[in-house]
Amino acid sequence: MFGKILIANRGEIALRILRACRALNIKTVAAHSTADADAMYVKLADESVCIGPAPSAQSYLNIPALISAAEVTDAEAIHPGYGFLSENADFADRVEKSGFAFIGPRGDTIRLMGDKVNAKQAMIAAGVPCVPGSGDALPDDPKEIQRIAREIGYPVIIKASAGGGGRGMRVVRTEAALLNLVNTTKTEAKAAFGSDKVYLEKFLENPRHIEIQVLSDNFQNAVYLGERDCSMQRRNQKIIEECPATGIPRRQIERLGSRCVEACKRIGYRGAGTFEFLYENGQFYFIEMNTRVQVEHPVTELVTGIDIITEQIRIAAGERLQLRQKDIPTLGHAVECRINAENPFNFRPSPGRVKRWVMPGGPGIRVDSHVFADYTVPPYYDSMIGKIIAFGPTRETAIDRMRVALSETVVEGIETNIPLHLRILGDNQFRTGGTSIHYLEKRLEDWSEISGGKKK
Ligand code: ADP
Repeated sequence: MFGKILIANRGEIALRILRACRALNIKTVAAHSTADADAMYVKLADESVCIGPAPSAQSYLNIPALISAAEVTDAEAIHPGYGFLSENADFADRVEKSGFAFIGPRGDTIRLMGDKVNAKQAMIAAGVPCVPGSGDALPDDPKEIQRIAREIGYPVIIKASAGGGGRGMRVVRTEAALLNLVNTTKTEAKAAFGSDKVYLEKFLENPRHIEIQVLSDNFQNAVYLGERDCSMQRRNQKIIEECPATGIPRRQIERLGSRCVEACKRIGYRGAGTFEFLYENGQFYFIEMNTRVQVEHPVTELVTGIDIITEQIRIAAGERLQLRQKDIPTLGHAVECRINAENPFNFRPSPGRVKRWVMPGGPGIRVDSHVFADYTVPPYYDSMIGKIIAFGPTRETAIDRMRVALSETVVEGIETNIPLHLRILGDNQFRTGGTSIHYLEKRLEDWSEISGGKKK
């Protein structure tokens, strides 16, 4: 096992990694920007290194600074968390070339899955169901592009192969609009991601977002830890996630899970990862793989009892997976609400000093947050300041516990999206379960009228 790990991230995930390391008796180094010098997890870490000023380009994305920080502190491994450099193949390569273990997959695997065209081809080869589409990057010939789109059938979605974060995508409903939109997407993709490779997919009108969590070691052992439903989204950003997904036959999930395990073995996947799918009319369609731990990993941890970060660390240290598929328990139901520092209905970020911070408790409640009273939420980073996760024997109990937990929560000094969460939890359709990825945006229009927002 490692003696010391450098945490190349910030906020709640830095604290989550630190907690896992401490439980394993591994020493920690918190690499932080000047804006995060006073964070609680920086003080809790055995050592800390300032890697640069507040803007992430100069700190959390600064590869030489992170490698030097690992060198001067004699760390043996680097945990990238999520976001920032976690899916940067060059970073993973540099970490390993500098003699440290990267707590994640090999650079080549990240590179393969980061190119959506190649990733899809790898999935098709492994028997994972994908959205019907062009299969390859679009050619230059306009006639050929039109033919491909016609064959898929409108509406189609143009996607940048190197795209991410919900950017580099465009829906096309008619042939008249196709070629112009392909060109615009190409130009934008070139500017944003450095590659103008784009492809076409059937656009699914009302899907759910369902994903499969996997763990895979260096010895061809892989398991899946059930699924998560992350359909409650706004602008492609998840805000509530749950495990398991309601209303999907277990047999179908099991079949999908085994395909994902098979894919892990074929591509020599190492570590924790997530296969993301759209689910419509009873069918799963792969959209992409996240080659890192995800924000929503705790719902899986509560239902399976498996500590995903600890497993990541063990795998990176070269240990064999001790888990066997048939022994992975799935008990009860868990729901996660992402707490964002923002206005709950117009979504304007609300950084600043937190004057009061009272977190909930009681049966089945877990709070993952680095915030405390008197902490100042810096304006430079993502607005997510923590997560409240509720577990119960049934979905209904988990939701009820979450409702009580959120009503006990007190955050003063900044705005949070807790009022929005409470409204969603009280919504009949949400309580029934199985809503699509567009449901929240539609409901938000109704609610903005109630809240005195602009009437459409
Ligand atoms: P990113 O890497 O930018 O997150 P994804 O491929 O995961 O891109 O897609 C992001 C979101 O875009 C999905 O969660 C879904 O809401 C929407 N989307 C992507 N592909 C399709 C599709 N074929 N049909 C309908 N919606 C899609």
